[in-house]
Amino acid sequence: SKRGLEAFACKPSLSKDGRELKLMANIEFPEELDVAESIGIDGIGLYRSEFLFINETTMPDETFQFEQYVMLVRRMQGKPVTMRLLDVGGDRPWLYRDLAGADYSGANPAMGLRGIRLMLRNPEPLKVQLRAMIRAAQEGPVNILVPMISCREEMEQVRELADQCRNQLGITELPPIGAMIEVPAAALIAEDLGKVSDFFSIGTNDLMQYTLASDRSDDEMAGLYQSGHAAILQLILLAASAAKKHGIPISVCGELAADPEWTATFLNLDMQYLSMSASNILTIRRYLSRQTYLPLIS
Ligand code: PEP
Ligand code: MG
Repeated sequence: SKRGLEAFACKPSLSKDGRELKLMANIEFPEELDVAESIGIDGIGLYRSEFLFINETTMPDETFQFEQYVMLVRRMQGKPVTMRLLDVGGDRPWLYRDLAGADYSGANPAMGLRGIRLMLRNPEPLKVQLRAMIRAAQEGPVNILVPMISCREEMEQVRELADQCRNQLGITELPPIGAMIEVPAAALIAEDLGKVSDFFSIGTNDLMQYTLASDRSDDEMAGLYQSGHAAILQLILLAASAAKKHGIPISVCGELAADPEWTATFLNLDMQYLSMSASNILTIRRYLSRQTYLPLIS
C-alpha cells in the first residue's frame, strides 16, 4: 500500500542491516526533477539524452547541449549524473534521416542502426555530444553511458573518440565511460567488456526484449516478456560476476529496477544503484529497508 510511504522521503536507501543500495532517477525531461527532489534521490542513474532532441530535425550544437547537461549536474549538487549517449533509432526514430541518411529505414528497426551503432557511423555528432558531456563533467560527477553495446570494439571506438575530445578540450581526465548491458551478447562477453568499461549498467527492458525475442511494446508478447524467465537471471549473474572480477561498479536502469521481487537479488548481487522512474523510488526504498544483505557472489 501507499500508506506510510512519505516516511521514506529524503531518507538514505539502506537495507535492514544498513547496507546501502542507492536509488536513482531515470530522467527524460528536466521537469521530472521537481518530483524526484521532493522524494530524495541519490543521483540521476539514467539521463535519456535523446529526449533533448525529440523535437529537433538537426543536431543541437555543443553549447546548447553543454548548457542542458551542466544544468543537471549543478542541480544534483555533487550527486552523480549518468548521461547516456544518444539512443535514437528503433522505437525512437527522431533525427533519424539526419543521422542515418535519407534512404535508410531498416527492415527491423529494433535490430538495425540504433544507439551507438548509428552514432559510430557518423562520428561528428557523437563527438559534439561527447565534448558537451566531458565539459559538463568538469562541474560535478558525471558518468557517460553507451547504449546498445554488442561487442568490445564499439566500446573501444567510443573511448578513442572520447579521448580525442578530451585532448582537444585540454582536459586531463575523462569521466568514467560505461557500457549498457542490454544486448544479450554484451552480458555473455561481460568479462571481456569489463576490460574496456569503467562501469556497467543493465538495461533490463531491452535485455528482456532481445533475450526472449519478444517486443517490449507488443501487448501480444506480454506473456513471454517475463522477468521470471531463468535466462534473465543468468545473464544478470554473468554481468554482475564480471563486474566483480574487474572491480567495476554495476547497476540496473531498466524497469526491473523498480520491481520489488528483484530488490533483494539486486542488493545481494552488490549492485551500486537501481535507477527507475521517480514515482517508484519510495516503494523500493521501503522494500529495501526490510531486506537483509546476503551476498550471492564472492
Ligand atoms: C533498457 O533498455 O532497459 C533501458 C534502460 O533503456 P531504454 O528503456 O531507454 O531503452
Ligand atoms: Mg534500452
